[in-house]
Amino acid sequence: MENVIILGSGPAGLTAALYAARANLDPLVVTGNELGGQIATTTEVENFPGFPSGLTGPELYDAMQRQAERFGARVEIDEVVQVDFRQPPFKLTAHAKTFEARSVIVATGATPRKLDVPGEKEFTGRGVSYCATCDGFFFRDKEIMVVGGGDSALQEGLFLTKFGRRVRVVHRRDALRAGPALQERARKNEKMTFIWDTVVEAVTGNGALRSVRLKNVKTGEVSDEPVHGLFIYVGHLPNTWLYQGQLEMDDEGYLVVDPYLHTNIPGVFAAGEVHDKHFRQAIVSAGFGCMAAMEAEKYLAALE
Ligand code: NAP
Repeated sequence: MENVIILGSGPAGLTAALYAARANLDPLVVTGNELGGQIATTTEVENFPGFPSGLTGPELYDAMQRQAERFGARVEIDEVVQVDFRQPPFKLTAHAKTFEARSVIVATGATPRKLDVPGEKEFTGRGVSYCATCDGFFFRDKEIMVVGGGDSALQEGLFLTKFGRRVRVVHRRDALRAGPALQERARKNEKMTFIWDTVVEAVTGNGALRSVRLKNVKTGEVSDEPVHGLFIYVGHLPNTWLYQGQLEMDDEGYLVVDPYLHTNIPGVFAAGEVHDKHFRQAIVSAGFGCMAAMEAEKYLAALE
């Protein structure tokens, strides 16, 4: 029987593990199949406080894991594929093992929705990005293209105008989903232009991204545009399918938590992008991990 099982190995999960370990809870992290979460796919992390020279996403993941392990956290590389939160002890089934736990911290994150076009995967980290805050800096005076018509596309696109020679926003319709205030700011920004009724068909390059193939969905016209940085903002998918019917979710599938990160099930807490669709930053998720571990500790103390 485990005191606390942490699902997910991104900044939220590993920070929860660090705090739970230092509280002598002997936590177990079950990593999930995306080791290190989204941050581990980022080539360069320059905005995580405490690292003035920056570091790579995998280096940050490695440092966080080692720090948690130093205080006794155990990390199991496996993926939980079934949970039973109906009553404690909670039962979790992974590929290799089953577990029982008095408390659970769900930190399974979210995954940026992909376009699923040829070349997208190959050039991720080499020009294709899902995080302007992380990667915008690398495209100073370069050609930047943003895909999407929601708040994220415009907000991140506006941020990218600080770097790029210009920022072209490609949207599949002729009307934006983003709110009016962001639309207004975008239209006023001289570096930002829109390509309407258009989808990305493929991305190509030579080691690094060089060109994006666009198709106008109304006219059928196809063109190849020179692009160095392609930022994709077509929504996120929270990794919550596992908890359907057990944990309360909003209509987009994000977990619903109270200000102390309690879910609707006492003893089950959530931390990071599995519930936070607003900030989506590693440092914020780490903070949520800390909070969830402190609440789990209180919950376990009250059980005794
Ligand atoms: P979103 O609102 O779901 O917008 C996703 C955009 O991507 C939509 O314009 C959608 O087109 C497009 N899209 C979806 N699938 C696509 C595909 N396969 N190919 C091409 N385009 C595709 O997602 P979001 O912008 O990440 O925002 C998520 C939530 O966070 C929203 O509630 C948003 O208001 C909030 N948010 C708020 C702020 C802010 O207030 N400043 C900032 C960021 C996010 P359609 O429009 O045609 O569906």
